[in-house]
This record gives sequence, structure tokens and C-alpha cells, in this order.
Amino acid sequence: MSKLIDGKAFADRLCATLAEEVVTLKKDNQLSPCIAVVLVGEDPASATYVGAKVKRCEQLGIDSRSHHLDVTTSEEELLSLIEQLNNDPEVHGILVQLPVPKQINGDAVINAINPDKDVDGFHISNAGALAVGQNNMVPCTPLGSLMLLQDELGDLSGMNAVVVGRSNIVGKPMAALLLQQSCTVTIAHSRTKDLPAVCREADILVAAVGIPHFIQADWVKPGATVIDVGINRIKDEATGKNRLVGDVDYSAAAEVAGAITPVPGGVGPMTIACLMYNTVAAAKNQAGIA
Ligand code: NAD
Repeated sequence: MSKLIDGKAFADRLCATLAEEVVTLKKDNQLSPCIAVVLVGEDPASATYVGAKVKRCEQLGIDSRSHHLDVTTSEEELLSLIEQLNNDPEVHGILVQLPVPKQINGDAVINAINPDKDVDGFHISNAGALAVGQNNMVPCTPLGSLMLLQDELGDLSGMNAVVVGRSNIVGKPMAALLLQQSCTVTIAHSRTKDLPAVCREADILVAAVGIPHFIQADWVKPGATVIDVGINRIKDEATGKNRLVGDVDYSAAAEVAGAITPVPGGVGPMTIACLMYNTVAAAKNQAGIA
């Protein structure tokens, strides 16, 4: 049985450190880190994610300003709010919960955010900065996954890393971060030939696919470190209730892997902790504090 990588415990430790830093920033620098969280519409999953983020802010002493807009909000109205938040010196981070309703172009909205306030790290200039190794705001889920990997393995240099999934918010930035750590990186996706064989080469296997229990135990190299980014809701046969599972067949893969993140309690809590990390970093950056 492999070692469980406890993302919740790591996230709690990171948040405790950030809470101390927020106290110091308020006391010594009169700086109160603040994030504006924008939710458009009534999507229940989005509302849950926003609620979890705001709650973490409260725990850390980070100010949060919630903007809940009607589902019929136009792109122009949302862009006008973004401009207002860009120009507000008291707001250091801006997060627009995705997806936005279909009348709004999500890319246009993300790219309207001041890149220095883009705490999700999705702005095209932050993606470019990451690609060339001049990291500014780094997307939270890959950043949190990297922190877990470094905590588990130390120096990642020379390791074979396989990232399954090539989305702009997880797969591609994850691959860029692993490349910066001098891993030999393969990005696999829906057109990859013989995916099981590709995965079996991985010392580090990151699953970001969105298909429950997709990665099988016999795709995992014995002793490999497995990071399961997937969050999928499935109906539990026994209870009839919905439960969360990852993209990896956890119980079988845990017999083969050296270490593995569970779902829930693995990458998910790290995503929110890294949002807090980025918000504090953005506030310091905008105040000129090293
Ligand atoms: P996405 O749908 O944008 O991308 C999925 C990727 O998987 C695509 O690049 C696609 O090529 C690849 N893929 C699809 N089918 C495949 C197949 N049969 N074989 C190989 N590759 C295949 O999803 P995303 O936004 O990157 O999210 C991926 C998963 O991570 C989802 O379950 C999502 O809920 C979860 N997620 C979790 C967090 C977190 O905080 N833990 C954050 C973001 C996303």
C-alpha cells in the first residue's frame, strides 16, 4: 500500500503560515490583502467553490468582496466591473468564477483583468510568462500540485513526468512547472496513442482528465508518485448519494504507486490554499514589498 499524500494537511499548514503573514502585513505595512470574487449566475457547483474560497479568506484574515451578478449580465457589464476592480487600489486580486454564461466570452473577461491582479493565473500574459520561465501569477491547481510533489520527492530534476490532460488551466501549466523543475515532461491527451504505455514510463503521473477512475492501476509504474487532479461526482451504488472521485482508480492504484493523492483531500484543498498564496503575493507585489 502506498503513502497517502495529505493535501488537506499541507494546505492547512500553508494557510496557517499565510495567516501569520497577513497579520504582519496589516500591522507593519498597513496592508490588508483583498480579493474580489465575481460570480455570474446560479450554477450550484460554482456557488460552492466561491463559498469555499470566501470562507478560507475569512480564516486567513484576507478581505474578500463578493460580486454576485445576475445570469443575464452582459459581457459589457462584466467588463465594466472588471475595469472598476482593476482601478481600485484596495483590491489586489480579482477572480471571476468560471464558467461564465454563454453570452459572455470567458477569454475576453479573463484577459481584461490586470495581470498583476489575476490571482487565478489564467491571463494570457501570465500563461506566456510561465512558458518562458518568468512566472508572475501561476495557476493555483498546478502550483498546489507542484508543492505536494516537492514536499514528497524533494528535487524533481531528471524525473520522467507524464501529465494526462492539456487544458489551459491544469495540464499545460502543470507541464510548464514540471519542465522548470527539469523533469522530462510528456503531455498526453485524448489523441495520445497507447496511453497506458506512456503512463507506465512516469515517475510522476498527473491525471487531469475529468473522467472518473480513468487511470488504471496497471498504467502506474511501481513506486511512482501519482497526483490526481480530477474532481468527478458519481452516484454511490450503495447509498444512492453523490460522492466525489478522482481520475485515478484510487484503491487499486494505491497498491502500486509509491505515493498518491486522494480525492477528496488531495489537490482540491491545495487549489484554494494557493489562491490565498497568490492573493498575498499580489498584495505584496502591488505594495512593493519583497
Ligand atoms: P478539461 O476538460 O479542460 O481537459 C481535460 C483534458 O483531458 C483534455 O485536455 C483532454 O485532451 C484530456 N482527455 C479527455 N479524454 C481523454 C482520454 N480519453 N484520454 C486522454 N486524455 C483525455 O478539464 P480540466 O479543466 O483540465 O480538468 C480536469 C479535471 O480536473 C476535471 O475533473 C476537473 O474537475 C478537475 N479539476 C480539479 C481542480 C482541483 O482543484 N482539484 C481544479 C481544476 C480542475
